[in-house]
Amino acid sequence: MAETEYEIVIGMEIHAELRTASKMFCGCPVVDTTVAEPNTAVCPVCGGLPGAMPVVNKLAVEQAMLVGLALNCQINASTSFARKNYFYPDLPKGYQISQYDDPIATNGWIDVQTEDGGNVRIGIRRAHMEEDTAKSFHYSAGGARGGAYTLIDFNRSGVPLLEIVSEPDMHSVAAAYAYGTKIREILRYLGVNSGDMEKGVLRFEANVSIRPRGTEALGTRTEIKNLNSFRALVRASEYEIARQIEVVEAGGTVVQETLGWDEARGVTVSQRSKEHAHDYRYFPEPDLPPLTIDGAWIEEVRQALPELPDAKYARFVGVYGLVENDARILVEDQALASYFEAAARSYGGNAASVSKWIVGELAYLMNRDGVALEAVRVTPESIASLVKLVDAGTVSLSSAKDVLATMFETGRAPEVIVKDNGLVQISDEEALSQIADQVLSDHPDEVVAFLGGRESLLQWFMGQVMRATRGRAQPQTVLGLLRGKLEARRR
Ligand code: ADP
Ligand code: MG
Ligand code: ZN
Repeated sequence: MAETEYEIVIGMEIHAELRTASKMFCGCPVVDTTVAEPNTAVCPVCGGLPGAMPVVNKLAVEQAMLVGLALNCQINASTSFARKNYFYPDLPKGYQISQYDDPIATNGWIDVQTEDGGNVRIGIRRAHMEEDTAKSFHYSAGGARGGAYTLIDFNRSGVPLLEIVSEPDMHSVAAAYAYGTKIREILRYLGVNSGDMEKGVLRFEANVSIRPRGTEALGTRTEIKNLNSFRALVRASEYEIARQIEVVEAGGTVVQETLGWDEARGVTVSQRSKEHAHDYRYFPEPDLPPLTIDGAWIEEVRQALPELPDAKYARFVGVYGLVENDARILVEDQALASYFEAAARSYGGNAASVSKWIVGELAYLMNRDGVALEAVRVTPESIASLVKLVDAGTVSLSSAKDVLATMFETGRAPEVIVKDNGLVQISDEEALSQIADQVLSDHPDEVVAFLGGRESLLQWFMGQVMRATRGRAQPQTVLGLLRGKLEARRR
């Protein structure tokens, strides 16, 4: 069978640390584990000492509810915790407190946009609360302490985690990428996760299978764990699909197993054959009573839902009349979207021109200098003023770009920069007419050539006028004047 005769099936599990001040079941602070001194945010509960009693973090529950609502899930009226038993050095209790039968949120969906502009609805099977494990650091032989050894940092142990499990509704790697992007965007909008994948606060797992196109039954899947970047998600999924097709083409069958992704070698590696739920001997957590979530509490949390990316996008296109590409770029980052709205309000008129300046010139300067929006010195009000100066013909488009660059560097107001640098556009016909006459009399040969048929010289004359005015001439006026003067010379 040719490659195109297989359909790709992907379901994703996403682990997101919640952004609470304290851990899931104790009062230890949640610290940035990439910065904090190891093992400084630990107590008997998250350290797994016998007899320590867990207490549920209410804010973590509310953040989980918020995510559930944003993903169009049902929030369960009664939700309980369960022990997932397994042994690993980073799991000091010998079990992880998770949820099993009755997770906090079930049966949701989100829409994702694929590159070809299509819309795909991805089902959300469930979202459940759990606690993160500690973090192991493996050192090979010859490390500072001699021999091979592993150090464990328990700062991460007990940090609230939300696992979001999708239905196997993605049928391309691009769709999986779009889904991961959308989930990250929503979590950031909700303020429950920073989305900093390099810090490990958001981790993907991809379940991948193939089936003959046109068939319904799911193929045997493999699960690729701990994908810590979008690049890894894409590369690992592509690799795995190709590998599975090769296995089937060679007459073999895909074995259900858990895989790791070897970033350096670019291959998936088998970690263990598929674990089953019964391997974990889930049982109800005896130290925590089930949580009752009544309608009033759900409504209270629902009130805290911000406008989500899809709604904002629709509003930017519908209300402000932005082109789709600008709207998409602005919505990707909530802060940038707010910046745009503040500028649009201050501008008052057709906001599409304001968005062009933000998505175009301002974004270019930010990229060029690696400046984040928080550090940008151009206020929304001042970029609106600049666009107004362009609209009014006070500055030319090319001068305006220089003005913005100066605003970006100095934080000064555009009116002041324009005045101090003598950048006011010359739209006075009388003045421009004199300059045009001068240019034509300075270049008699080019005039003859133009009259002889080299029409393209019109642009060249235009350039000369611009040069003489240091870019301040109103282009349409100049063009009209030059045409008239040259035609007059034909007679
Ligand atoms: P478990 O909890 O044992 O890992 P689940 O059946 O709950 O397994 O599924 C976990 C994830 O795997 C879900 O995101 C689901 O959509 C996905 N999945 C299940 N079967 C397949 C399959 N055949 N192909 C691709 N993804 C699958
Ligand atoms: Mg799984
Ligand atoms: Zn603790």
